[in-house]
Order: sequence, then structure tokens, then C-alpha cells
Amino acid sequence: MAELIERGIALSVAKLADIRRPGLAVILAGDHAPSHIYVGRKIAACQRVGIQSKQFLLDSSTSKETLYSLIQALNIDPTVDGILVQLPLPFHFSPVEVASWIDPSKDVDGLHPLNQGNLLCGQLNGLIPCTPLGIKRLLDGYGISVSGKHVVIFGRSNIVGKPMAALLMQTLPGFDATVTVLHRAFHDLASVTRLADILIVAAGQPHIIRRDMVKKGAVIVDVGITKRVCQTNGKHEIVGDVFFEELLGHASYMTPVPGGVGPMTIAMLLENTWKSFVVRNHLKFLDFKA
Ligand code: NAD
Repeated sequence: MAELIERGIALSVAKLADIRRPGLAVILAGDHAPSHIYVGRKIAACQRVGIQSKQFLLDSSTSKETLYSLIQALNIDPTVDGILVQLPLPFHFSPVEVASWIDPSKDVDGLHPLNQGNLLCGQLNGLIPCTPLGIKRLLDGYGISVSGKHVVIFGRSNIVGKPMAALLMQTLPGFDATVTVLHRAFHDLASVTRLADILIVAAGQPHIIRRDMVKKGAVIVDVGITKRVCQTNGKHEIVGDVFFEELLGHASYMTPVPGGVGPMTIAMLLENTWKSFVVRNHLKFLDFKA
């Protein structure tokens, strides 16, 4: 699905290349190793579809003034349609404050309070955070309706859990889910996960979801990504929050890690950048939904 969406964006970008190419600015502050890998993947995806990307690598001691000035310069740069500040940021930054410095129309991560507020109010034509949007598109693409279903979301971050809940609970055709959000302050997680028709897990806790925590036939979306050393062969491995092998044959659908949600998140970043480009150039939005 991610490939299909990328292909659609590449075609659309190529058609309008005589106007200009969409531009994405990616800011990475600090030396958090996984962030460098994620940013590399995002830049490579931009290249695949013809979006021009600019990378700004800042060191972990970068001041608030410097980051603020950089974002302000990108806000008024006419070649930049999207601005992404890779998280996590060094501790002296508040991610919410930094998101609020970005021009909301260029906020392709959908984390500006205005965009988060629009999402909460059911205004879905704005910029929506990439991971929840990618998950919804993935479910739609596989014909899995959330309407009238009980969706349990494990994790309440501003980037995944909360916007995921806001998106799925909207009073709109194709949405209309009943949503429960679980987090670490609840004592009996399994009693709730077992009630899920669709379980979306974004805890960052490897293999926290076991077979006995899931209703037979449930749909599982695994957002978690953890890099760790494999106990049997000593090699590095990427694992999700779901014990995939244990759930095979028990869940009706399940996303793998790696793969699954990660590529859809990147596809949605490209789509949001394209969308911002279209809006900024007063063009008609070309719909290339997979
Ligand atoms: P976060 O750390 O901000 O939030 C984690 C949430 O999970 C918190 O709400 C916490 O209360 C809950 N949680 C953690 N451990 C728990 C436990 N033992 N019991 C109950 N609740 C628990 O994380 P995030 O930014 O939402 O990311 C979550 C995971 O998803 C990470 O592994 C991250 O790398 C991954 N992620 C993947 C993508 C992707 O594109 N695939 C995108 C974003 C995040």
C-alpha cells in the first residue's frame, strides 16, 4: 500500500514539475541514533517521489533561539512546503512549543496545536499526524471498517495514541469507532485489550502484547519499534510491541515489524507534503488514495 501511494505521489509530482517540485525541510537536533536512521529513510523516500528535501543537522546543545530562527526562516521560504522536526528533541526543548513555532500550513507532522485541535474537532481536511493517518489508510485499504467497532489504543502520546483516538472516534462515515485509550497508569491492561475488535499498540515495549491478551479474530496494528540484541544469536534485531509469532493464526490481521506501519507513516509524510504544496499553489488536490 505504501508503494502504491508513493507511486501516485511520484506521478502527481512529475505532472507539476514545471511549476516547481514540492519541498520538505527536515530538522534533526542531537545524536539520537534511531532518529538519524528515520530521517535517512524520509529523505530517501522524498528522492523516490521527486520531493526536494533539505536537511538541517543541529547539535544537541543548539539553543532555543537558534532553532526558533531556523523554523521562522523556513516558514517564509517559498520553496519549502513542509517542515518536520524529528523527535525526540534534546531535553531542553518542549516538543509542543517547538511544534507551535511551525507555520500550521507547513506542519506536515500534524503536531501544531492548531492542527491537533482541528483533528479533535473533526476537521479532517487539514494536516493529520502521519502515523495515525497511515494506520487509518492501511485499515481502509484492507477493507477493515472501524465503524461501530471497539478500538483499543495502547499508548497515549501526542504523536500516535491521542491523534489516533481523535481520528477514529469522529462522527463521520467510515469512522465512528468506540475508542478506549490505555496507558501505563492502568493496573489490568489485559482485561481491556481482550475487549478490542481492533488493537493498536504504540507503547515502545517489545512483545508486551501476548496471545492471551487478545480476543480471537481481532485485528492488530503494531506501531512499536525497538532495536535490541537478540538473546539467541547476539545480533541486533528490530521488534514490535506484539509477540507476532504467538499471535499468528489467532489475530485475523496483523501488521509486521519491521514493515507495516513504518512505511505507511513515511508515505503519509510524502502525502502531507504534497498536500501542503497543492494548497500553497492553489491547485486542485489530486486524489491518489490507494
Ligand atoms: P511514547 O513513549 O511517547 O508513549 C508510549 C505510550 O505507551 C505512553 O502513553 C505510555 O503510557 C504507554 N506505555 C508504555 N509502556 C507501557 C506499559 N508497560 N503499559 C501500559 N502502557 C504503556 O511513545 P510513541 O512516540 O507513541 O511511540 C511508541 C512506539 O511506537 C515506539 O516504539 C516508537 O518507536 C514507535 N513509533 C513508530 C512509528 C512508526 O512509524 N512505525 C511512529 C511513531 C512511533
